[in-house]
This record gives sequence, structure tokens and C-alpha cells, in this order.
Amino acid sequence: MRLEFTRKTKVLAFQRSKGFCEECSARLVPGKFQYDHIKEANDGGDNSLANCKVLCTPCHQPKTTKYVQETRKHERIRDNNIGAFPKTKRPLQSAGFAKAGPQKKATRRLSKWAAWRALGDDNG
Ligand SMILES: [Zn+2]
Repeated sequence: MRLEFTRKTKVLAFQRSKGFCEECSARLVPGKFQYDHIKEANDGGDNSLANCKVLCTPCHQPKTTKYVQETRKHERIRDNNIGAFPKTKRPLQSAGFAKAGPQKKATRRLSKWAAWRALGDDNG
């Protein structure tokens, strides 16, 4: 489970940052910055001020995305190894194509001779 920083730690970290991203020094906009674990909580990082970094969203997003992807991959591998998802006996089947409705503008079936006459009008 992911732990969160306490309000006190967040306030202290924000004061330390003086309102600027601690990675790229961009001015922090309310709602557009995050408190980042320098060492991720799952990797043994704690929720102390020393492990807290104030980052703007563009600086924080790539790190979070990569971290989430790696965590999901580890979870999938673990789930496969412990057989949490047994293979299904029936293979996946598509829903198939939707039934077409009745044709609105049905043309009359052309007989071979009707087609010949229609083509051959100017041929005499
Ligand atoms: Zn930044």
C-alpha cells in the first residue's frame, strides 16, 4: 500500500520549495504540483521531509507513469507465477458481425437479357 505524506510534512516541504518546483524551478500552481517520494514507499522510502520533494505535474508525471507501469508488470508476472488467473478452457470469441437490416432500396433483379438490352441500346 502506498503511504502518503502527513499534512505537516507537506507544509514544511512546500515552505522549503518557496513555491517553486524542486526539479525545474517552475512556479507552482495550486492543483498542478505533487509531493513526490524521492525513494518510493514500496522500495522502502519513508514519509519523512527528507524523502519528500515538491514537483510540478510535468516533472512528476513521467516518474509516476513509469513507476506504475513497472509495478503493474511485476504484479502481472507474480499473478502468472502463482496461477492467480488460470487459463480459460474456451478461447476468446468475437461477437461477430451485426446483422444487417433489410435493404431499403432493393433494385429489381436484372436478368441476363435485361442487362444485355440496357447495355446494347446504342449498339442497335
Ligand atoms: Zn518541474
